[in-house]
Amino acid sequence: MKKITIAIDGYSSTGKSTIAKKLAKSLGYIYVDSGAMYRGVTYFAMQQGYIKDGVLDAKALLKSLDQIDLQFKFVAGLPDAAMFLNGENIEAPIRTLAVSQQVSPVAAIPEVREKLVALQQAMGVQKGVVMDGRDIGTVVFPEAELKLYLTASADTRAHRRYKELIDKGDKVDFDAVLKNVQERDYIDSHRATSPLKKAEGAIEIDNSDMGLEEQFERILSHANALIERS
Ligand code: C5P
Repeated sequence: MKKITIAIDGYSSTGKSTIAKKLAKSLGYIYVDSGAMYRGVTYFAMQQGYIKDGVLDAKALLKSLDQIDLQFKFVAGLPDAAMFLNGENIEAPIRTLAVSQQVSPVAAIPEVREKLVALQQAMGVQKGVVMDGRDIGTVVFPEAELKLYLTASADTRAHRRYKELIDKGDKVDFDAVLKNVQERDYIDSHRATSPLKKAEGAIEIDNSDMGLEEQFERILSHANALIERS
């Protein structure tokens, strides 16, 4: 049976990665978290001092883009691949609110997108990939056989993200998380290059009141029908 490409887009904390991982596992496909790559570039900019008091020096970052090597690698004992920046495991720091607060302006830079989109397309050459992000169905894999667009209210999403951060032991304030979700929604969908929008032919799922199993079964049956046909 032929393998297909599955593109999942949507605002932050719509549960894209949970669904994408489960789908990849069930189909024996590779899962790629494209957001981790934008977070990786942002973390690099923070480490280098290119972001100070919330202000990004885009010129300095662009000059150093060639020095950024991002790789997904499996770490013993963990089920999912971790993001490595120049050989260092950065999986934990890229998930903090501090990185979330800086990532959208970095992701709006066309040269950053060009570099990461090329890497993402290379990872999907052989199909059998489930990738989630903001521009996967529109830019990275416009020919993907299955495109999904996940939505949920900002409040629902902020509660999910808040719980995730608190469960990890991060001391965050709910209002700061909600503000971050709303700001990223705005920047991600209004930027000039590859703004978040529903791809042509994408199936839209509002999961504000839908459980994981229900969504998963629905999406898996779409995927299986497409795989049988391909
Ligand atoms: O998916 P996640 O919330 O981790 O993504 C972090 C940020 O990376 C998003 O808010 C967005 O600014 C950016 N991003 C993007 N394009 C993608 C994936 C993520 O612009 N394909």
